[in-house]
Amino acid sequence: MDYDIAIIGLGPAGSTLARLLSPSFKVIALDAKHQTGNEGFHKPCGGLLANDAQKAFIRQKLNLPKDILTDPQIFSVKTIDLQTKLIRNYQRSYVSFDRHKFDLWLKSLIPSKVNVLHNTLCKEVRRIIDGYQITYLDQNKTEHNVTAQYVVGADGANSLVRRMRYPQHKIRQYVAIQQWFTEQHPNPFNSCIFDNKLTNCYAWSISKDGYFLFGGAFSKKVATQHFEKLKEKLSMQGFIFGEPLKTEKCLVVYPNRLRDFYTGNENIFLIGEAAGFISASSLEGISYALDSAEILSKILNSGHPKPNKCYYQRTIPLRFKLYGKIVKAKLLTTPIWRKLIMKSKIQHTEQH
Ligand SMILES: Cc1cc2nc3c(=O)[nH]c(=O)nc-3n(C[C@H](O)[C@H](O)[C@H](O)COP(=O)(O)OP(=O)(O)OC[C@H]3O[C@@H](n4cnc5c(N)ncnc54)[C@H](O)[C@@H]3O)c2cc1C
Repeated sequence: MDYDIAIIGLGPAGSTLARLLSPSFKVIALDAKHQTGNEGFHKPCGGLLANDAQKAFIRQKLNLPKDILTDPQIFSVKTIDLQTKLIRNYQRSYVSFDRHKFDLWLKSLIPSKVNVLHNTLCKEVRRIIDGYQITYLDQNKTEHNVTAQYVVGADGANSLVRRMRYPQHKIRQYVAIQQWFTEQHPNPFNSCIFDNKLTNCYAWSISKDGYFLFGGAFSKKVATQHFEKLKEKLSMQGFIFGEPLKTEKCLVVYPNRLRDFYTGNENIFLIGEAAGFISASSLEGISYALDSAEILSKILNSGHPKPNKCYYQRTIPLRFKLYGKIVKAKLLTTPIWRKLIMKSKIQHTEQH
């Protein structure tokens, strides 16, 4: 084998694993993003760090550098139900940051002993005796093969590793669309929008560094159409959009059942969103990416004789926590329940 471990994808999950693995391993890590700068692949994201992700960074003794933070830091989320016209402000202690800078910062923390290949696309993971052969295209689109004993799929919502190795473990996916506008609202705000006619998930808006980000998750076939309709509806509610400066689109997994969370077998491990680890009620996924990477690093570093079984077992609490989010999502996307939840704790109703 050329390597002990091959990590496919360096988002929060892959970068964290690469940083926490013991230096005794020979590790290769492939990532579609460039090493620095604004070129290449950017992960579309709201860029909000939730409580659990903050806790993971505390455990890992990391602080966010100042230059990745964005302005303003808003600690309330206006929840808008377009069906019942209820509006409620909830307190949320998110840290707002620039997602691309965040990803590049996490990559920069990977020890130099790990062979990190940037701007590289993994094309195939094939079983061979005693391990796997990984085929990838480098930045010049030249094809290469390497072999590794263990493969870690940290390649996000549309994971090639999961699709290729576990086609039977399909998971529901939505299309997330996010547009950037010049911020024109007199008071910057973050919001979360429910409208059962246009999205069976939810939509959001975030004010960030002079921009107004508006996004939502939609069924694949109607995504663009429903995104535009939702913008029209919200314009009537006082949202100011203008001309979009940037449109981002990607798949986002939307787990629906306990068995949607899949952690791999036969020396392949799925971490982060590739495993289905994302909250169905808020689409918050960074904390689960960090947590699953940390759990796997401990297992591999300990030299456990049955690492797949152990990883499955140690992620059971995480899976049950995420199942709780599925139940919460089902309640929040059911208008009658949402109305009851929002009415039970109304602080004040208001229009923009
Ligand atoms: C629109 C949107 C907004 C979101 N907002 C938030 C938020 O505010 N807060 C939050 O906590 N979560 C948010 N999420 C969820 C969060 O972004 C993900 O759950 C999280 O990024 C998952 O981390 P990951 O490391 O598992 O995967 P990713 O962050 O998706 O990273 C995977 C990486 O793998 C690489 N890759 C993929 N395929 C290949 C390949 N074939 N070869 C080589 N490299 C490859 C890519 O470079 C990519 O960066 C949002 C999701 C979406 C879609």
